[in-house]
Amino acid sequence: MADKVLIHPAVDEGLKPGSANFAGATLTCHCQTDPVKVEVGAQVAHNHVCGCTKCWKPKGASFAQIAVVGRDKVKIVANGQKLKVVNEAAPIQRHACTVCGVHLYGRIENNQHAFYGLDFVHTELGDKPGFDPPGFAAFVSSVIESGVPPSHMAGIRARLTELGLPPYDVLSPPLMDALATQAAKLAGTLRNA
Ligand SMILES: [Zn+2]
Ligand SMILES: [Zn+2]
Repeated sequence: MADKVLIHPAVDEGLKPGSANFAGATLTCHCQTDPVKVEVGAQVAHNHVCGCTKCWKPKGASFAQIAVVGRDKVKIVANGQKLKVVNEAAPIQRHACTVCGVHLYGRIENNQHAFYGLDFVHTELGDKPGFDPPGFAAFVSSVIESGVPPSHMAGIRARLTELGLPPYDVLSPPLMDALATQAAKLAGTLRNA
């Protein structure tokens, strides 16, 4: 029997639907003592699995699971002194626990960015179920950059499709459109529909 293709522990057994009227959950890092806790006070949007080399991935997973939520809904509630931005120069400032390495939230500080106002969060860190599951797979080809053999890609794309996560090598069409729309606005080339 061929080895099962593993994507991420939160999706490998199938997608779990989100809860109606879900009001959010508290994300917790992996530290046994004094864990960092970040409250997310709303349902998330655009949840997806991501193959890029920048998103935090649980041990052994080839993809991350990541969604967005309004930055006003994200609040550090415990041990925030352990957080440090992974790369200040990156468009998304990923706030990671300096002890266990888990990323608690990613924030965009450039107010010209298409996704300004949204924070990126890993929904599996929530203390209760109910966040909407992923709806697509982003940066799929990039898993090769983290060591996945190119010969595994056909199997990975087939498994993503089977799970109901259409694979894209950058972002999903709505998010690509949002990025291009903002670029057109900044360039002055946006025409009204
Ligand atoms: Zn930690
Ligand atoms: Zn990513």
